[in-house]
Amino acid sequence: MSDTPGSDQVAIIGAGFAGLCMAIRLTGARIPFTVYEKADDIGGVWRDNTYPGAGCDVPSALYSYSFAVNQRWSRAFPLQDEILDYLRGCVDRYGLRPNLRFGTEIAGARYDEQAGIWRLTATDGREFTARILVPAVGQLNRPKWPDLPGQDTFLGTAFHSARWQHDHDSTGKTVAVIGTGPSAAQFIPHLAADARTLYVFQRSANWVLPKWDYRFGTGHRLLFRSVIGRLALRGLWFCFGDFVLYAAVRGRRLGRVVDFLCHRQLRTQIADESLRAKLTPDFPAGCKRILISDDYFPALARDNVEVITEPIAEITPDGLRTTDGRTVTVDTIVYGTGFTATEFLAPMEIVGRTGRRLRADAWADGASAYLGMTVPEFPNLFLLYGPNTNLGNNSVVVMIEAQVRYVLACVRRLRGAGELEVDPAVFARYQAELAAALHDTVWEAGCTSWYKTESGRVTNNWPGRVIGYRGRTRCPTATDFVLTGRPRHERDTVAGQPESMG
Ligand code: NAP
Repeated sequence: MSDTPGSDQVAIIGAGFAGLCMAIRLTGARIPFTVYEKADDIGGVWRDNTYPGAGCDVPSALYSYSFAVNQRWSRAFPLQDEILDYLRGCVDRYGLRPNLRFGTEIAGARYDEQAGIWRLTATDGREFTARILVPAVGQLNRPKWPDLPGQDTFLGTAFHSARWQHDHDSTGKTVAVIGTGPSAAQFIPHLAADARTLYVFQRSANWVLPKWDYRFGTGHRLLFRSVIGRLALRGLWFCFGDFVLYAAVRGRRLGRVVDFLCHRQLRTQIADESLRAKLTPDFPAGCKRILISDDYFPALARDNVEVITEPIAEITPDGLRTTDGRTVTVDTIVYGTGFTATEFLAPMEIVGRTGRRLRADAWADGASAYLGMTVPEFPNLFLLYGPNTNLGNNSVVVMIEAQVRYVLACVRRLRGAGELEVDPAVFARYQAELAAALHDTVWEAGCTSWYKTESGRVTNNWPGRVIGYRGRTRCPTATDFVLTGRPRHERDTVAGQPESMG
């Protein structure tokens, strides 16, 4: 690892679930790499999101790498601190620390066609190079702040859920929460228990599924220790996601199970009819990410909690005013307003072989990449958890592993020399296929969500089953790529013929 040009085969940007998975696989393949991480620790979203109640709404059985299944989960749905512990354990187990370069935020990268390398620039001006670039920065790494009039005039305490102020004590205080997504659904029960009064400003209601969470006892631990037990648990949850929840995404008959469970959760947990009316969404289950919670509705039904659905007109120095003229005085405002999820790779700018900028030019109408990983004119660039690889129905870790396997196969092929770039015709066909598949998903059913751009294009989610994605990414298809044998500066002297992927 050094700053000298040509020193690295692979540069990974980001040390979250995806970047670390790539690092583990490259370590196993003895391919030199560096992971550039802007923060001082690994973990990505699981390092950043430390709000009370932070955890995962994907079952523990599916939330570790398949090659390093965590046998120490404490419960059916893992908590943030144990996920972070698990990832730290992986870093040590696979000896990744020497390859991690913390406090290094990559501002951008440019492909040097003559040398056949990526030139990376950090925000502090340092420069690095690598033959292969693997951005793994996630989709939910930049908090989204709303743009409400008067937002900066508030004199109390205000913070975003992804930047929780742990030195702030809500006990006995009057608190406002803006937003009712999956993050808010996890911290609202905790705030409701501490605060004197909690005002929840809800712009859209959300469907909620029961969580059926429980602590693991000895029996479960033993089950996780046996290979058959692990496979059975993983298989069970995987199939529930890929068949039952997926059916809801596609609006199929089996998806009615999900509708039934959502309606039942609302009916059994909210007795008050006017509150139930407020909490009933006007879009089908799955259009936005379904909340998975047993304590969210009971928290909203508490006497010290009020759900306000009137839109916020402005933030004032001591609270909020809604469009009906009501003012609410609060000590604290917590923004549970999500992330700038459709702005893939922002604020980095990546410049390809022909001088095109990835975000500003290639993605001007929304991000897109072949199988979420490769883009024409950007040779030897492989995105992890890129466009259209998020899921609403299953574990993203499974998707990430599929991508890492695929990228590793490409990296192995490129170890000698050369450039690999997706064929533009293949990419165009893929985009058309994707658009058609997205068209009859529930995400396009008339709700707003972080899955889509302001113009309504779904740039974040994979519209098929996870099994289908794994099948398509099992092995890179030679004819999908244009592969040249040598970098251009060598081709000037040695005629390099385009090859196919063997
Ligand atoms: P989110 O789903 O994008 O929700 C943001 C919330 O803020 C929504 O209720 C939204 O209302 C509201 N909002 C945004 N701007 C607003 C404004 N100007 N005025 C009023 N309300 C506004 O964000 P999130 O809850 O942080 O969750 C994001 C994703 O993170 C989840 O979908 C999930 O994938 C991930 N996450 C995962 C877990 C897990 O357990 N795996 C846990 C937490 C989060 P609208 O709905 O009307 O837009």
